[in-house]
Amino acid sequence: MFDSLQDRLQSAFKTLRGKGKLSEADIDEVAREIRVALLDADVAVPVVRAFIGNVKERARGAEVSQALNPAQQVIKIVNEELVSILGGETRRLQFAKNPPTVIMLAGLQGAGKTTLAGKLGRWLKAQGNSPMLVAADLQRPNAVNQLQVVGGQAGVTVFAPEPGNGVGNPVQVARDAIAEAKRTLHDVVIVDTAGRLGIDAELMKQASDIRDAVNPDEVLFVIDAMIGQDAVTTAEAFAEGVDFTGVVLSKLDGDARGGAALSIRSITGRPIMFASTGEKLDDFDVFHPDRMASRILDMGDVLTLIEQAEKAFDADQAQAAAEKVAGGTFTLEDFLQQMEALAKMGSMTKLLGMMPGMGQFKDQLANFDERDMDKIKAIIRSMTPAERENPKIIDGSRRARISKGSGTQVSDVNQLVTRFFEASKMMQKMAKGGGMPGMPGMGP
Ligand code: GDP
Repeated sequence: MFDSLQDRLQSAFKTLRGKGKLSEADIDEVAREIRVALLDADVAVPVVRAFIGNVKERARGAEVSQALNPAQQVIKIVNEELVSILGGETRRLQFAKNPPTVIMLAGLQGAGKTTLAGKLGRWLKAQGNSPMLVAADLQRPNAVNQLQVVGGQAGVTVFAPEPGNGVGNPVQVARDAIAEAKRTLHDVVIVDTAGRLGIDAELMKQASDIRDAVNPDEVLFVIDAMIGQDAVTTAEAFAEGVDFTGVVLSKLDGDARGGAALSIRSITGRPIMFASTGEKLDDFDVFHPDRMASRILDMGDVLTLIEQAEKAFDADQAQAAAEKVAGGTFTLEDFLQQMEALAKMGSMTKLLGMMPGMGQFKDQLANFDERDMDKIKAIIRSMTPAERENPKIIDGSRRARISKGSGTQVSDVNQLVTRFFEASKMMQKMAKGGGMPGMPGMGP
């Protein structure tokens, strides 16, 4: 799902790697790439335009963040804007104060309404409701039967017109169903309505007649996400013809591009409430804009890290470390402190690149695993304050003492000290050559 969009966005963010701060040109460049990515994903043009406008404006206004590098800042903005166009908060079903709650399904034929009726029924039942499905799709010869099959699979009652009684009059069927639900104490009624292959006036009229007759608490417009840009036209027609309170995206499993998902909320002003991701009854879930956005970015980890970095970042400490680096007075003690600050944030190896002042150690430490980190900490802790301040004094006998104290080999101590000298030299060079380098890339 959304594979190509994912790749394109990732490569857009790569243009910002290694940048110290966001220039106007950087913002233009990344915005252009994001724009192309969204257009290629078949997102509606006005939606893309608004999206890019917002991203640019926010990137320009972004304060120079001490916790995040430019790439991370832009990822954060794009993520938030994605959440926003996907609807922001998760929108839950509204239940009627006086049951039964009536949910009406509308959409084109083949959109997935009947399947959805079963999915919703099963889902509601699992939550302790007592749903009833209503076969008000009397257009398609097999529709009533199909709903009965689906209802059977879901273990949910199906109300279908008796042959000869109400046949051909879906409005009457829907009314009868609600009366029946009251009698039999079903607390949610899901009304499956007829679809057509295309939008037509009669279809809209029937749907709005049913709506007027049963006064639903929710009208869910079911749209096949695979139809891409056409989804927008269809959604607009239904919004005008029947109006609906929420959208269900079906066949998201087959939607390689994501255009419908990303456009529909902005185009209709109605929230996406559920997503269907397969033919089976449990291929279905509440739609969460935030989860969908991080899935599109495929950066769940990075987003979590960004959040953690913002929380854990101690600006004063980092500033002090940066000044020490520039002045050539960064010591093993500082190194230890930074490592401990990082450890608080979680996985060391993943987080190494995120800390200003620590980024330079990345190459040196790239081959270490988490246990190496513990080893380094143990070695530094076994040093005296004087040794931490000035590792040059660490001679043979001190090395032996430190290795014993930390339970490591003398060669481990040697290696750490050597690496520290190398890193210090490198950092000083970088500091002299035009200030602190930007944080390295964000990849885990
Ligand atoms: P309706 O005409 O709107 O009632 O649509 P149906 O519920 O009959 O669905 C049409 C077809 O789409 C059926 O073959 C379903 O199995 C299939 N379908 C429904 N939802 C999904 C989905 O989320 N993913 C996939 N892959 N197929 C689906």
